[in-house]
Amino acid sequence: MGARREPVRTCVACRGTAGKRELLRIVRTPQGEVRVDPAGKGAGRGAYVHRDPACVRLALARGGSAIARVLRVGLPREEAARLGREIERELEA
Ligand SMILES: [Zn+2]
Repeated sequence: MGARREPVRTCVACRGTAGKRELLRIVRTPQGEVRVDPAGKGAGRGAYVHRDPACVRLALARGGSAIARVLRVGLPREEAARLGREIERELEA
């Protein structure tokens, strides 16, 4: 009680909600790049996914279409693959 409540976000994969810190943020930067945003504070539109391999797999399925839809961005195959590697590195960290 009294503690400030953490913002709640929706996972793009399972559509479940969770506190921001339990989710990994992916951001579309003002330059139009799609990157992992480990601190969750980067400028730009954000998409969230559970830090869970099953959700990450779903989020990256079909060329990352769930992420692309939420970020309202086209995600070429190469970009989606790079993002996938970036997310995996972040989950291992
Ligand atoms: Zn999820």
